[in-house]
Amino acid sequence: MRIGIIGGGQLGRMLALAGYPLGLRFTFLDPSVDACGTQVGEHIVGAYDDPKKLRELAKQVDVITYEFENVPVDTLQAIAQRQQIFPPISALATSQDRLLEKNLFRKLGIATPEFKAVDSLADLQAAVDSLGTPGILKTRRLGYDGRGQYRLRRNQDVAAAWQALSGVPLIYEAFVPFTREVSMIGVRSSTGETAFYPLTENTHKNGVLHLSVAPFKNTTLQKQAEQYLTKLFKQFNYVGVLTVEFFVLRGQLIANEMAPRVHNSGHWTIEGAKTSQFENHLRAICGLPLGSTAVQGQVVMLNFVGDIPTAKQALQLSNLHFHDYGKQPRPGRKVGHATVVADSVKTRDAAVKAMLKLLPNSNTKGSKAQKK
Ligand code: AMP
Repeated sequence: MRIGIIGGGQLGRMLALAGYPLGLRFTFLDPSVDACGTQVGEHIVGAYDDPKKLRELAKQVDVITYEFENVPVDTLQAIAQRQQIFPPISALATSQDRLLEKNLFRKLGIATPEFKAVDSLADLQAAVDSLGTPGILKTRRLGYDGRGQYRLRRNQDVAAAWQALSGVPLIYEAFVPFTREVSMIGVRSSTGETAFYPLTENTHKNGVLHLSVAPFKNTTLQKQAEQYLTKLFKQFNYVGVLTVEFFVLRGQLIANEMAPRVHNSGHWTIEGAKTSQFENHLRAICGLPLGSTAVQGQVVMLNFVGDIPTAKQALQLSNLHFHDYGKQPRPGRKVGHATVVADSVKTRDAAVKAMLKLLPNSNTKGSKAQKK
């Protein structure tokens, strides 16, 4: 079977690496001639919204998936008649618009931060008057890793926030004084079978995922997150991996956003779970039985952003799994990650300290202190 992947970044690359043992083969659609995923599959060089290139992809493959959210829905709809596309386009469309997403969460009884749509300066002032500060003004579309956001600390920040982001539809959210951020990764197969990974605790640096630790053990929150994902699976007749990021506040989950794809906070599953998120996504979209999501120990994943140690440096840590995406390092760019599967929380925490020293310009204070 041949899988078409829209987007040739590291997520696509890890999908392909997980799929080869299953006998799957891959074709990527990506405009960049040196997209890192294309090192491990066929490559159609073309824009994501080029109908001709999408048709070419559809002709060559048995099923299409995508590895990032900003794929134009209209062009996908045009090929959906003749080619299966998973996850469903309806889930993709919802995830592309923070307002649609949060309205759906509310409709399904999934808690969200307080929010208001903002299309004018008057709307923003009214939203701030109603929800107060601090709060975050976000673009409804095309925001990621903290981009397209403005934090308002005081009422007087309204004008500056409006100046920074106006011109596109916006949403104002009350700031959630969370104690931690967690994500839930679940998977539903085209046969209807579902599976869930344990919750992962995530810390960010400069808006970008820095560290993920799993499992985050909390039976009540695990159950609640699984119920929330089950509602979303039903809503979309979902197929594939689905990720939802949550804030934890006073022992409750508050949904921030969903991603209809494999997710950076699930990279630890490659070595830390019996079946990785990548393999389970492929199993799901190919209608194969899902693999066990059981965690293999105490796991930590560290992202390399902007720069990456050499394999020789990284592999000084004997139990470390090193992933170099083969990308040119650039500030803010995710270029690799490392995972350690430890047998206890104590050894995992020691591993975190050692891993942080691997970071070029390492700052061993870590991310907790810098949590956004
Ligand atoms: P997002 O792009 O919505 O995932 O936001 C990026 C990061 O900003 C999140 O991981 C949080 O750390 C922070 N953030 C976003 N929205 C809120 C909010 N309403 N309250 C508190 N922190 C937030």
